[in-house]
Amino acid sequence: CGIVGYIGTKDSKEILLRGLEKLEYRGYDSAGIAVVNDEGLHLFKEKGRIADLRAIVDESVVAPTGIGHTRWATHGVPSKENAHPHQSTSGRFTLVHNGVIENYSILKREYLQDVTFVSETDTEVIVQLVDKFSQEGLATEEAFSKTVALLKGSYALALLDNEDKETIYVAKNKSPLLVGLGDDFNVVASDAMAMLQVTDQYVELMDKELVIVTKEAVTIKKLNGEVVERAPYTAELDA
Ligand code: GLU
Repeated sequence: CGIVGYIGTKDSKEILLRGLEKLEYRGYDSAGIAVVNDEGLHLFKEKGRIADLRAIVDESVVAPTGIGHTRWATHGVPSKENAHPHQSTSGRFTLVHNGVIENYSILKREYLQDVTFVSETDTEVIVQLVDKFSQEGLATEEAFSKTVALLKGSYALALLDNEDKETIYVAKNKSPLLVGLGDDFNVVASDAMAMLQVTDQYVELMDKELVIVTKEAVTIKKLNGEVVERAPYTAELDA
């Protein structure tokens, strides 16, 4: 299973799909990508191989921002509905997740009684919480931060807000996730190998940090809002 993300000036689709192919070695049962452009969000997901996903991706969609996922099912059978990315009911937020949210049923009971879930995953709770807190008036970064603070378990997360194609929100706990740096783009990946096609400069992320990724900048914060400075390293692997 794995996560990729791209935000920049090029079309993200092929970079994401190639990234997912590089992560195939980790094993997975389904895959998906979500990309956002001026027309809004475009979501493609499928049970099976990356080749099956490629077959349903609309080639005419060109979008500079996107996230992708290969799933190793832990909650809910391998299926198209349970494949990531997952969207909130309003359609505004889209999320990929690797790991297991241990308290998802408690969070569901406590905060999301009135929400109709479309998947059986623990992951959907996360994206529905972000939407709920956003509807209560929080800016996306605050809604994401409040959600992450409630999660127990392991997670690597990348979140898109379809009202803002200029940002990918990222967080991790006990699951691997890196950001990669480019000249007019930045990327997200579970493993540098996925994005060596576009950069060899990576920044390590620590557990419970919140990362705001735009095409110009990567801002790492602690959950209390304090900004963290961290130098990149050069990944020395064969692409
Ligand atoms: N727990 C999530 C699910 O079952 C994520 C699994 C993964 O790490 O791919 O959908």
